[in-house]
Amino acid sequence: MRLKTKLIHGGIEGDEHTGAVVTPIYQVSTYRQEAIGKHKGYEYSRTGNPTRHALETYMAELEGGARGFAFGSGMAALSTILSMCSQGDHVVVGDDVYGGTYRVITRVFTRLGLEATYVNTGDLQAVEAAVRPNTRMIIMETPTNPLLKVTDIAGIAAIAKAKNVLLVVDNTFMTPYWQNPIDLGADIVFHSATKYLGGHSDVVAGIVVTKDAQVGEDMHFVQNSIGAVLGPQDSFLLLRGAKTLGVRMEEHEANAGQIAKWLSERNDIERVIYPGLESHPGHELMKKQARGFGGMISFDVGSASRAEEVLSKVKYYTLAESLGAVESLISVPARMTHASIPAERRAELGITDGLVRISVGIEDVQDLIEDLEQALS
Ligand SMILES: *Cc1c(COP(=O)(O)O)cnc(C)c1O
Repeated sequence: MRLKTKLIHGGIEGDEHTGAVVTPIYQVSTYRQEAIGKHKGYEYSRTGNPTRHALETYMAELEGGARGFAFGSGMAALSTILSMCSQGDHVVVGDDVYGGTYRVITRVFTRLGLEATYVNTGDLQAVEAAVRPNTRMIIMETPTNPLLKVTDIAGIAAIAKAKNVLLVVDNTFMTPYWQNPIDLGADIVFHSATKYLGGHSDVVAGIVVTKDAQVGEDMHFVQNSIGAVLGPQDSFLLLRGAKTLGVRMEEHEANAGQIAKWLSERNDIERVIYPGLESHPGHELMKKQARGFGGMISFDVGSASRAEEVLSKVKYYTLAESLGAVESLISVPARMTHASIPAERRAELGITDGLVRISVGIEDVQDLIEDLEQALS
């Protein structure tokens, strides 16, 4: 089955009992047992629920892994992955990962005795050097937010394999439509499904897919033990949203490509960061490991005041955090998502005060360009 067909017919189709063409919302917590321990595969909905199970099976198929798991948020998904570690274990983490990833590791898991080292995952030697005898996982993201730095997944996977550690990849920005980290050697993929997978700004959810069944068994044990599972309503919304992932991602990318090109031809923009531009340092690597470049663009308008002005003038870009939905969103990372990072560190990373990030939606691209034009001039 090819990807676009899999998006429609993958996983568990419909409902056997009624012929319903989509999986119904099984709003149920427990299941009747015919005799003690004799049941139809479901005992209690923290352990398993048919709507969530349909979503989990579907996501595992899309990412090309053995098992899928759905959680109440992307952070719940990551926290459950991290809970496979024990006190005294060590993780190597990209130095440019999502802020919430950094926060939960530094402020929650290190309190419980997990050790962490942050490295530039673009530097394979640095990653290799950071691995210690007690390292359990390497956790990375590509492309990153908001600077869209690209990391060689297969390169890191080779290090992880040689050192016998698990490679965990946050695939939120690319989605399985454009990039499949498991095919490139990752052991675990996770998503903030709140973003592109859901795609409509109406659900907060997380997804984990494991490459092999044994890691999947361990993951199910931790998922069931911790219990940060996704409810049936939200599982249904994700299943519904993801059916159109292909058409949405094609539109996001086509629009983003045109906007990035248009921005890069202006002389009042200091830099335009979009992996689809040939000028982007990760462009070639991205062509190798992904099928597309996604819908996120960052560009520097020169100053905090100009950034503020642009944000106040745009009509079709909603000023908001988050990304990946059908509507275009705009933000200034230095003052919003990355405000908690000290100014000096932001400067080191390149998150300048004039940096504007847009999550390009699927509106008519001409309207999106005209809107930016009036806001910039
Ligand atoms: C939003 C996001 C997360 C966190 O997911 P939530 O669903 O908000 O908990 C993790 N990684 C990336 C790249 C994100 O954009």
